[in-house]
Amino acid sequence: MLFSVNDMETKLCIPIVAETVEEALEDLRNAEQYADLVELRLDHIKNISKQGLRELIAARTKPLIVAYRGEKAEKRELLLEAVEAGAEFIDLDESEKNMINDVRKKGKTRIILSFHDFTKTPILEELKQKYKEMEGYHPDFIKIVATATSINDNFKIFEFLKDKKKCIAFCMGIKGVISRILAPKYGSFLTFAALKEKKVSAPGQLTAMEMINVYNVKNINEETEIYGIVGAAAEHSRSPQIHNSFFHETSENARFLSFKVEEKELKKFIDNLQKYHFQGAAITMPHKVAVMQYLDEIDETAAGIGAVNTIVNNHGRFIGYNTDGYGALRALKDKTEVRGKKVLVLGAGGASRAIVYGLRKEGIRVTISNRTLEKAQQLAEEFYTDFLSLADAEKRASEYDIIINATSQGMGLQEGETPLVNLPEKKVVMDIVSYPSITRFIKLAQQNKCTVITGEKMLLYQAVQQYHLWMGKELNSKVLENARQLLRRII
Ligand code: NAP
Repeated sequence: MLFSVNDMETKLCIPIVAETVEEALEDLRNAEQYADLVELRLDHIKNISKQGLRELIAARTKPLIVAYRGEKAEKRELLLEAVEAGAEFIDLDESEKNMINDVRKKGKTRIILSFHDFTKTPILEELKQKYKEMEGYHPDFIKIVATATSINDNFKIFEFLKDKKKCIAFCMGIKGVISRILAPKYGSFLTFAALKEKKVSAPGQLTAMEMINVYNVKNINEETEIYGIVGAAAEHSRSPQIHNSFFHETSENARFLSFKVEEKELKKFIDNLQKYHFQGAAITMPHKVAVMQYLDEIDETAAGIGAVNTIVNNHGRFIGYNTDGYGALRALKDKTEVRGKKVLVLGAGGASRAIVYGLRKEGIRVTISNRTLEKAQQLAEEFYTDFLSLADAEKRASEYDIIINATSQGMGLQEGETPLVNLPEKKVVMDIVSYPSITRFIKLAQQNKCTVITGEKMLLYQAVQQYHLWMGKELNSKVLENARQLLRRII
């Protein structure tokens, strides 16, 4: 029994990584609910017999790839048995090309000839050369899998895939994730996803649920517009969930990815975004200032703040914006009138700059406090406002109506820390740290009967403004409410 396969569409393939035939049978049943194709990794099944293999092949309801990685005496016999039993595909490593004739004689199984580079992504010329060599053996599909040591390696794969048919190509590793998600845009015949986190068969594989629910990967096509968050730790960002939910609910053929980019990779990465016509990006730590030099234009607010958190691709020109101030002010205004209030802002980094700029634009008097006092002073001078040491802020906090934590204290590894311990009663207190949602700063404010605003509010509203910049339209209240609920679930 051979299942037919449309060779023109990218397939989501789930590898079966099980130690026993029973476990593999159960995984097969689960995987087939989401997968277009399933790959049976024989090398993971301990003491697999020909009978066990036949049982697994007979149980499939979706096209099956049979693969055996590594070297063992049983390998050749098992692969040929899979062909005789009618598996749709077998995956042969290029070192096993001498098996191609035997496979052709045994059955109709199609051959994927594969090459893996586990240390790097070769340069484009080498990738093309490798493809040409492998083409000479006349397999049905050619698979070239490299390892991304830089996010920029993914673009070599996108370039390589141009004009290729019946080819599977992507990068492994955490830096290669975008090539797995964008496989349907650039024409790779397959992209792999794990059944669950513990069943990953190669580094960088996302789970099928993430590929489907967050990235809606089965509906990505050549026209899909690509956006993403650029940051050193972008893989932890919640922005993909937020923006993909916006895109999904407004039926935009667009996806939002996370781009883990180091400082030394930034220039080339921005060049690549432009060259490959990505439609926009969100920028996060530590690139908000450095990115400005690589853009074609900076809008007035971003220039005033001195940092960019959003790039818009305007007919090939990259324009930098900043939506952080907007996000923070809208989150505040949801809970309180800001005009005429006295505001204490803790922190003098990028986020603080955006918030102080936004507040000053509305004519609000702000006091800045920061661990490094000179930075508070510098910012205060720039925006014609006051500054305090953190120790003084602790003593004088009750003089302010609104207190905002715009430091990273309380976030991630600094969880449990707080920039102020003595919070006054019944004030408005906002923390812009969004992970965790309830920081120690927020807990202290709650204990003191303050009105609290948690970090995900700003996160949501700055994203709303980014959507507006990219799509030129507003999101309705239903989309916003759904995003709020989503954030409550994931933070
Ligand atoms: P940044 O430019 O690196 O600035 C960090 C600030 O935190 C500096 O003022 C720094 O003080 C202070 N700080 C760090 N560790 C501290 C500690 N242990 N004790 C006291 N102060 C400390 O970062 P940023 O871009 O402004 O981001 C700040 C925070 O805001 C991050 O947690 C970020 O995730 C969050 N954020 C949230 C949103 C949102 O939408 N919710 C948007 C943007 C940023 P020094 O000057 O003394 O180093």
